[in-house]
Amino acid sequence: MKLSICSERPVLTRCSLPGHNFQIDPYVGCAHLCRYCYALNQAETDWQNHIQKHRDITGQLARELNGIQPQRIYLGYFSDPYQPCEAMCLETRKVLSLLLEKDFTASILTKSDLFLRDLDLLGQMPEASVGISVAFTNERQRKLFEANTIPTKTRVRALAELKKAGIRTTALLCPVIPLITRVRPLLNLLAENTEKIWIYELGITDRQTINRVNCATILKNYFPNKKNAIEEAVWDRNHPFWGSLKEELLLYKNKKRLNLEIHL
Ligand code: SF4
Repeated sequence: MKLSICSERPVLTRCSLPGHNFQIDPYVGCAHLCRYCYALNQAETDWQNHIQKHRDITGQLARELNGIQPQRIYLGYFSDPYQPCEAMCLETRKVLSLLLEKDFTASILTKSDLFLRDLDLLGQMPEASVGISVAFTNERQRKLFEANTIPTKTRVRALAELKKAGIRTTALLCPVIPLITRVRPLLNLLAENTEKIWIYELGITDRQTINRVNCATILKNYFPNKKNAIEEAVWDRNHPFWGSLKEELLLYKNKKRLNLEIHL
């Protein structure tokens, strides 16, 4: 993996997610190697092998925050703020330190457990929240689809620890891959440790995209008997698979009184 300084680009950018006006991606690129990563389709760089950081993220962000009222900032929209190089580079920690100093707070989404390192900062921010993203209960499958992430159970254990420390915790169950992702067992793992869970499907609409080609190759090599059935459901938003999963999850949500947002 190559690490370099990116050419001048803003640290703080507009955010379209509800409840957030701004987002920060401390890194350009992400080395978690998720084969389904949507960012691969638009990346101008070698997204997963060449990670870029800002020359002086603290100084630049301090200037960009000038005149902006303290508020909640989202971290983890395009790339993972706790991807492997963060252990060494500390860019995310620098961002959190500055946000804290200026009375901002943060919503974080990650596939790592490195956020535990920053508990001292998160604990001082008003209503900071950390969410983990998960999609696999089977470790072999996780390694096929997201080779550089840590095991799902390690993420959940870290989240539980954070919750115990009084930090708000959430989860993103994504992407749901038909006949592979075991949604109910994942919900059971997450339910006790999160205040809200969002569920999204593997939404690939263009057959030429990089993430589609990546996924098709994995399916062909490792799931040859299921490949056609999986792809039929992925391509067709009206496929009965989605309707029956949604129905099942709505029943489950009501039965378990889960704060579940289903986008299937
Ligand atoms: S963690 Fe997110 S940004 Fe990073 S490779 Fe995976 S899907 Fe892409």
